[in-house]
Amino acid sequence: MSTINITETAPIRNVEADAARSEEIEPFIRYSQRKKAESRPAQARLRRRWDFEKRHVRRAVWQLEQETDRAQLLRIRELVDRAFVSHRFYRDLYASVGYEPGAIVTWDDYEALPVINKRALIDGGFGEDVEAMYPAGMLHSARTSGSSGLNMTIYQDDASVEYRHVLYMRHCELMLRDTLQPTDWRYGIYFVAERYTSLLGDYPFVTVSQDVPVDILIRNLAEVRPRLVLTLPSALQRLAETRIDLQEFGVQAVGTNSERSTKEERLHYSDTLGVPVLDEYSSEEMSLIAYECGERRYHLVEDSGRFDVHGADEEGYGHLVGTSFGNASMPFIRYDQGDVVQIGQAGSQCPCGSRFRVLTSFRGREDEALADGQGTVAADAVLGLCDATLVDAEANVLQYQIVQTARDRVVLRAQPIDRALGLETRPVRKFVATLPSLFENVRMNVTVEQTDDFDRFASGKRRLIIVAMDGAR
Ligand SMILES: [Zn+2]
Repeated sequence: MSTINITETAPIRNVEADAARSEEIEPFIRYSQRKKAESRPAQARLRRRWDFEKRHVRRAVWQLEQETDRAQLLRIRELVDRAFVSHRFYRDLYASVGYEPGAIVTWDDYEALPVINKRALIDGGFGEDVEAMYPAGMLHSARTSGSSGLNMTIYQDDASVEYRHVLYMRHCELMLRDTLQPTDWRYGIYFVAERYTSLLGDYPFVTVSQDVPVDILIRNLAEVRPRLVLTLPSALQRLAETRIDLQEFGVQAVGTNSERSTKEERLHYSDTLGVPVLDEYSSEEMSLIAYECGERRYHLVEDSGRFDVHGADEEGYGHLVGTSFGNASMPFIRYDQGDVVQIGQAGSQCPCGSRFRVLTSFRGREDEALADGQGTVAADAVLGLCDATLVDAEANVLQYQIVQTARDRVVLRAQPIDRALGLETRPVRKFVATLPSLFENVRMNVTVEQTDDFDRFASGKRRLIIVAMDGAR
């Protein structure tokens, strides 16, 4: 066993030092502060797993629908049986509907299982039970609040973390439309550092703070020359403003995550920065849910989990209900995270090559919907109007946020690009004039407020739409 001790104590590649080629970037480098520190054996294991599984996960994207479907059902059968046997929460829940191990044979059996949500998991003491099942320090943990505002700790075992990471590496390849090379740098602009900064020195990943001044960021990008940049869309705004061509720094694609951005915004950034800017849709509970391909379609990540629409209306809109394949120790089965979506028919191949089903519409998170008397105005309608007005260069809007402060009052908070020009522009006036037409039950008053200070979540994430009326949150 002595070899294990040697590898455990051997240092890992100091990716941060390699990326910080000048002193100015140093204060903005993010270091891992995770309880379970990154180690050489962990990197070695993930490296072996990536090398072993990469061909399989790459191929899964082109796999025929029937094969994907069958693979998902087999996984679900195993997952549900294990959850039933080992987790009190699921045993109680499924026993109440007469479930017995082995009962899932077809999709109908799966669809007969109850749908759960965060509230039910918290009330059922699920997290505490999971924590008690494992020796202290064995599980990884992440705190989530999400848009619901309910806090929950998500626990994950090593194998699940590695599985998620293998899919994440493929995700990066899908954005690049090419295989990731061991020498390729990935560059994150984010709140926290990546869990793996390298795999035994290869596939280096460095993260800098989203607060890094843009001139320092550009100089560092020129030094590191990452192939892929992964960022919050709000950080991209400042980069796009400089009108630099990221291709000059060797960047081939930019991935956005965590915050909402609209398609028009991403097309605008793609145009300005000279590389495709592609979004992802994920949550701490479900891990990767969908990715935006070069054809601007959101493909469900069919091997990250099984995602369906629950309780669809006549147009096919309903709640996204998912079962994650990326969390064995704390399983999320038929979990509703409050997003309203529409999913397209299976069975066709996208020009990008993927046969994964497509999320045809993302109506928004429930708490993003503006109140319209007893009804609501869905986020996609509001963001569509933003696309048609505020994203227009003539609008002179650098960033914006829509806040409903009363039943009949909405404030557009915006920061102008050119202060001298202000916000009295034609597209902004059009936004103010058009927004009330989306409301059927309330005569909406829209005002514009100039600001540089944007409300963020406790997690630091920017939100485009906020309902902040008394009693609404
Ligand atoms: Zn596609």
